[in-house]
Amino acid sequence: MVNEQKVSIVGAGQMGSGIAITFALAGYSVLVLDIKDEFVKSGLKKIEDFLERSVKKEKITTKEKQAILGRVSTSTSMKEAADSFLVVEAATENLEIKLTIFKELDELCDSETILASNTSTYSIAKIASVTNRPEKVIGMHFFIPAPVMKLVEVIPGIKTSSGTTKKVVEIGGKIGKKVAVAPDSSGFIVNRLLVPMWNEAANLVAEGTKPEDIDIAMKNGANLPMGPLELADFAGLDTTLSVMEEMYAYFGDPKFRPSPLLRKMVDAGLYGRKTGEGFYKY
Ligand code: NAD
Repeated sequence: MVNEQKVSIVGAGQMGSGIAITFALAGYSVLVLDIKDEFVKSGLKKIEDFLERSVKKEKITTKEKQAILGRVSTSTSMKEAADSFLVVEAATENLEIKLTIFKELDELCDSETILASNTSTYSIAKIASVTNRPEKVIGMHFFIPAPVMKLVEVIPGIKTSSGTTKKVVEIGGKIGKKVAVAPDSSGFIVNRLLVPMWNEAANLVAEGTKPEDIDIAMKNGANLPMGPLELADFAGLDTTLSVMEEMYAYFGDPKFRPSPLLRKMVDAGLYGRKTGEGFYKY
């Protein structure tokens, strides 16, 4: 029997900790898992810091913060996820790691447990193929920062059942997200559209256009809240490049071939906000 209130999150990094907050805020009990104690502790610290900032911004009270934290537990033992009704995997973007995790989860978890992946690029059908429950494997792609960004893309693989998709779409609504059901092809919807825009923006910079002008143009001419280069710097140019490379390999289409300027910037350690410099200096 699964516990319909318990969600487990595999991976306590940037995304895993944010996804944990999202579920805990919505009233679920959340178990956060990682491979080492230090990673679990650092994930918990991210959760506490986010909630503390929410208290300072008067979005929640101190009492609510304590109640939310009370719903979050941590572990390094995947066995503890066994009775969750849903597991969301948000581990490192590496296919071998994800396949190993899904195999293990499939062996350990109740046969009713839905196994979701937060992968940005890998095929859900491929991830599902290492389990004995492909009908209960699905993509749940959150955006950074997960508690703030409104969208979740729900990605059924070719063998995902309509019942699983329906349930996960409902869960998306329960945690306050807008849900878009997306195809199981690299980049889903958002990155499929964003990546070519980022690439062309980088090409324009290489041709001599100032990043500021590109962002002013897109914010005011296409009504985007953030310019494409501001957003690329925020997401991390290293992450952006690896998503592009994966999409280019998947589609073999030159529209996804990373701009040479982007490659050079990543080679030079200009990853955007996280390293203090990308298209802009911070
Ligand atoms: P991250 O590096 O911050 O965190 C990954 C965590 O996974 C680390 O704490 C690592 O120790 C843990 N991990 C690795 N192997 C594990 C295992 N076998 N079991 C349990 N934990 C394990 O990475 P992130 O940015 O949080 O990305 C996680 C996932 O979310 C990736 O699939 C990524 O593509 C996806 N994603 C990232 C973003 C983003 O903007 N960063 C946005 C959407 C989706």
